[in-house]
Amino acid sequence: MNNKQELLRALPKVDDVLNHQLIVEIDDSVARSLIIEAIRTEIDNKRQAILNNEVTDYQAITENVIALAVKKRACKDSEMNLKAVINATGVVLHTNLGRALLADKAVKAVTDIANQYSTLEFDLETGGRGKRYDHIEELICKITGAESAVVVNNNAAAVMLILAVLKDKADSQAEVIVSRGELVEIGGSFRVPDVMEQSGIVLREVGATNKTHLRDYENNINFNTKALLKVHTSNYRIIGFAEEVDLTEMVNLGKAHNIPVIYDLGSGLLYDLASKGIGDEDTVQMAVKTGADIISFSGDKLLGASQAGIIIGKKEWIAKMKKHPLLRAFRIDKLTLAALEATLKIYSDLDRAAEEIPVLSMILASEEELRLKVKKLATLLRDIDKLTITLENGFGQVGGGSMPTVKLPAVLIALKTEKMTVQTLAEQLRGADRAIIARIQNDSLYLDVRTIAESDFAYIASVIKSIVEN
Ligand SMILES: *Cc1c(COP(=O)(O)O)cnc(C)c1O
Repeated sequence: MNNKQELLRALPKVDDVLNHQLIVEIDDSVARSLIIEAIRTEIDNKRQAILNNEVTDYQAITENVIALAVKKRACKDSEMNLKAVINATGVVLHTNLGRALLADKAVKAVTDIANQYSTLEFDLETGGRGKRYDHIEELICKITGAESAVVVNNNAAAVMLILAVLKDKADSQAEVIVSRGELVEIGGSFRVPDVMEQSGIVLREVGATNKTHLRDYENNINFNTKALLKVHTSNYRIIGFAEEVDLTEMVNLGKAHNIPVIYDLGSGLLYDLASKGIGDEDTVQMAVKTGADIISFSGDKLLGASQAGIIIGKKEWIAKMKKHPLLRAFRIDKLTLAALEATLKIYSDLDRAAEEIPVLSMILASEEELRLKVKKLATLLRDIDKLTITLENGFGQVGGGSMPTVKLPAVLIALKTEKMTVQTLAEQLRGADRAIIARIQNDSLYLDVRTIAESDFAYIASVIKSIVEN
């Protein structure tokens, strides 16, 4: 009891904390009233904690401890909620961590357009109005071999727009045929059947989950059939007794019945990773060659650019999309467009693309390169007292619902310290100024250097050192 009273008396005064070096250092962007409020809150919290017997020693209520908490609290408001983190998971297209990283050239393009006026919808030759879609149509066609192209916000919007142009407003019977094996759900609640329902088009599911034959499509074609839809099962594979109809067969069937064939390709791979021994994903160029009428894919998956939905295909269809009112609702933003154009330009030289587009260079990193990289980080970590590191062979992933069966070889750094559990260590890493997101697996904490920039190694080592040595 006595101790409680003494602790309460020992609590620092508001003015003492206000004059503490840590608080004096806070820059002008944080209002003084906010700092004082934070000091009061922190002191009150400590008082309550003492009364509840949660704090029983002086170490927990020093001016230093309270000033640190105040600084954190007060600066929170001026800090961004959306902020950069270090992805140490080895998952290249980590959906929760923002999918694709942009190439330097794309970043520069975004910055240029962000704080200056631009030709977004302006034609420099005529001095009149231009179209935002024209900036990249030719480029997309050149790279993919398609006739025509248009871009929207994301691939989900692309699929909606495609379905919307297939269906006449008044036609409540309009149908699209799709295989039961391809009724895909993509993380973040994109479900093919739900999207189709929104568009008002009737979904005619054919075949079985594991097997769909060409005759399943053929037997279901009727007067109301507006299209045959193929959806790339980007994020899963049906293995075993399974069969799907390939795109070429569907295109032939569509031609015979004068019905367009649509392909939701998902990822939008422009660089042939399979030829480098990684996965067996078809490229966009291959899909175009089959003669599909309309193809759509994402900008921020394997393509490695900004969030966008790219629609390519026959001129007559794309022209209809360009006139559809939904295009305005799904309009692509200028910053997105800048990043997309800059990234697509890199693809004119595929070797350069492999080097300059982060998604590709990370996926293509060889085991040898990764070993060298691991060595550099491991060397820094070995100097840290009370930290045990071991190297283990493991796997990373492409992620983002792309190439689910591909296991990217990885040399993982496992971290251990007697000071805390791996869960606590992971939590502390997430609490760093720039959060470090590590992978917890089988009760171990791993860093996978595939997705870490070498320029972050020193920072990572300093964070870990301060966590385990203090
Ligand atoms: C990822 C994906 C989508 C959704 O694309 P977003 O760009 O995230 O909207 C749709 N279809 C398939 C097959 C996908 O893989």
